[in-house]
Amino acid sequence: SYWRGGPKAKLVEYRFASLIGRKDAFFHNSGSAALLTGLYALGANEYSTVAISSSGFVASLNALYHMQSRPVFLPTDEQTLVCQADVSEWVANPVDILLVTQLLGNVVDIDYVLRTTQARLLLEDASQALGSILNGQYVGARGDVSTFAGSNRKLLGAGQGGINVYD
Ligand SMILES: *Cc1c(COP(=O)(O)O)cnc(C)c1O
Repeated sequence: SYWRGGPKAKLVEYRFASLIGRKDAFFHNSGSAALLTGLYALGANEYSTVAISSSGFVASLNALYHMQSRPVFLPTDEQTLVCQADVSEWVANPVDILLVTQLLGNVVDIDYVLRTTQARLLLEDASQALGSILNGQYVGARGDVSTFAGSNRKLLGAGQGGINVYD
């Protein structure tokens, strides 16, 4: 734990960040908290529009709700249960932040969705896809902030917890 400086926790953060190909990581008490501080770090507020996977995890929507940001729901692909590739006609207003959920190990074509939404910033919720690969990179490698959850039913079961990775 972080008690008395938490040298072991810091080491695990560093190793986890390295595994994903990022510079740094930060532990949280839950995946939900990691999403919330991720959005906060990206400057989300009541004036922000955040595009979000319509088939994501409820924690993403909760984080948006806490920041009072405006959601734009992206359509879901029936095969993969992640954002459909062509979202351009669904997004009328400028999007500040794209929050994608990599659901059930499936991977969103992030470049395509970033292009079509023209979002400035990316928050990647990789909680359900630790180890999945897109274009040679682990999921979580792309987000300005990327989050993982660690409760017992997640891929990395740690009892409870979450972690953010970033550069
Ligand atoms: C579980 C999960 C979360 C939230 O994690 P908690 O630790 O339960 O708060 C967020 N996103 C996804 C995709 C999850 O599966």
